[in-house]
Amino acid sequence: MSEEKFDLPHASPVVPAMLTGDSPIQFQCHKGISCFNACCKNIDIQLTPYDILRLKKRLNISADEFLPKYTFPFEIDAHGLPGVKLAPVEGGSACQFMTDEGCSVYEDRPTSCRYYPLGLLSMRKKGASVDEQSYALVVEDHCKGHLEERSLTVDEYREEQGLKEYDDHTRGWRQLILKKKSAGPAIGKPSQLSLQLFFMASYHIDQFQKFVTSEQFLANYDLDPGQLEKLKTDQLGVIDFGVRFLKQVLFGEETVPVQADAARKREEHIKKRAQEAHEIARAQAELATKQAGKEGT
Ligand code: SF4
Ligand code: SF4
Repeated sequence: MSEEKFDLPHASPVVPAMLTGDSPIQFQCHKGISCFNACCKNIDIQLTPYDILRLKKRLNISADEFLPKYTFPFEIDAHGLPGVKLAPVEGGSACQFMTDEGCSVYEDRPTSCRYYPLGLLSMRKKGASVDEQSYALVVEDHCKGHLEERSLTVDEYREEQGLKEYDDHTRGWRQLILKKKSAGPAIGKPSQLSLQLFFMASYHIDQFQKFVTSEQFLANYDLDPGQLEKLKTDQLGVIDFGVRFLKQVLFGEETVPVQADAARKREEHIKKRAQEAHEIARAQAELATKQAGKEGT
């Protein structure tokens, strides 16, 4: 017996057949086609951490600016696992990046836009530790690309759309979600804190980077100097680390070593802060006494 979970990155009205990388498809999209831009006029696009990293870099803005302006939140599962989707133009359904000339962020467009008209199906058989990947062809009336004469395999289409890189940087995160969905009630509803950490590690990459390089985090987790340097300078590394950290948060796997003497370090940290506060208070009291003395003379 197997349990199957599908994860379609694009809203799909039709899932007619399971395809593999070798399956042939007939499809071509180009600027002169009669339906040009039709697929970008009514969007439903879930974003991955790598999509966000690429887009915010492209726009040269922080996650603080990107998330409220270009995304809206939704729940991935019944436990409230947070997801984000691309927000359309205000009061409409078209993508904010759509122009008469096509996609204004084409080189950094999200995974779902690259896959279309394919849907990625991630599946985990019950008891299996590895996910299987297959594809479905989404056929919508407005999309005339299916009438073009070009034939190619799914893998050739993925290559053409630059999906290898996107999939490589998203595989771990997808597996995490699939594991969470497949586990069902076995792991129960994550705590509010776990859900907040999932959001931060997945989407608010800048904040997560600050968090994992903070004194407080390092007092609790044992990171080697090379790893810490990478976290400070490379947000792609931050995304990968986020997946590892979330396995610990969601499933209790020991993926990030905990400081053996974390409790002692925390105590020392608190003592140090208390000592500093005490010294500041003493210096202020001395100053106040001196000033009072001067005023009295
Ligand atoms: S990001 Fe680009 S390709 Fe994707 S929906 Fe928007 S305009 Fe279309
Ligand atoms: S062919 Fe399909 S994917 Fe290309 S512009 Fe038309 S609707 Fe969009």
